[in-house]
Amino acid sequence: MAQQSTQKTQHADTTPHRMTSQRRAVLEVLHDTLDHPTADEVYLRVRDKLPRVSLATVYRNLDVLAELGQVRVIEFPGRPRRYDAMTDLHYHIVCVECGKVVDVHLSQLPDLGAMVARTGAYEVLATRLEFEGRCSECRKR
Ligand code: ZN
Ligand code: MN
Repeated sequence: MAQQSTQKTQHADTTPHRMTSQRRAVLEVLHDTLDHPTADEVYLRVRDKLPRVSLATVYRNLDVLAELGQVRVIEFPGRPRRYDAMTDLHYHIVCVECGKVVDVHLSQLPDLGAMVARTGAYEVLATRLEFEGRCSECRKR
């Protein structure tokens, strides 16, 4: 939030502005999709908008956006990291056959972190919950 300028400048080629527009393009790609792309997939989509962007730049901007809390990193063991611009609480399921990751929306889920905190001496800092399954297309094969 503190990073965002309230003024729009028209100077397209200064380095800071180019960084900002690259970061914005990365964020737009993630806001425009529900499919939780990998960094490589984000890169290919950003390149459609900014043909000269480099893979390293996309990786760096994904890291910065994750640090700023503007994108969420989704990690399933043994699979490439995926990115999500939807930062509201929700869960994910990965298809173990095709690797697709989709949202799981659960209402009425108890606050598991608070329950764990009540059982012992820990301050609970994070809770991770993830699902694995087979999607409907893979089950047809
Ligand atoms: Zn599948
Ligand atoms: Mn998601």
